[in-house]
Amino acid sequence: MELEQWRIKVGDLLVGEVGKKAELEREIKLSESFESFNFSPLLFEIELQNADSGTVLGKFKISGKITGSCFRCLKDIEKNFGFEFNASFCEQRSEGCDGLIKNAELNFKDVFLQELETHLPVKFLCKNSCKGLCEMCGIDLNLKACKCKK
Ligand SMILES: [Zn+2]
Ligand SMILES: [Zn+2]
Repeated sequence: MELEQWRIKVGDLLVGEVGKKAELEREIKLSESFESFNFSPLLFEIELQNADSGTVLGKFKISGKITGSCFRCLKDIEKNFGFEFNASFCEQRSEGCDGLIKNAELNFKDVFLQELETHLPVKFLCKNSCKGLCEMCGIDLNLKACKCKK
């Protein structure tokens, strides 16, 4: 099941005329967490196109929710998350090819995980003005002031 959800049969697309498109949607719950982030089931809106010579071009649009701790105050928060990327899949490994098609199936897990790395939040904050925790007494400075000297 886990593996199945990342696979798409592209046999029909590859024998169709060049330029032929197929659209599909998948909802996938990632089993791993990434740099302490977790995700709601993510919706993948996928458009595939036969680009000739055993190549399929894929457009992927991902949307869902991301949860994690605020980098400053450590409160658990949830935010909307999403990004888009394109990838090409080929029957034979070649330059400019992001993934392989095996037995008329492509698997987009690896290309997705690579993209995901580059789209993880660099600053994950409950709000931009979050004051964080006092380094000395640990108090949440959003809620209370403390008398520690900085
Ligand atoms: Zn915060
Ligand atoms: Zn303090």
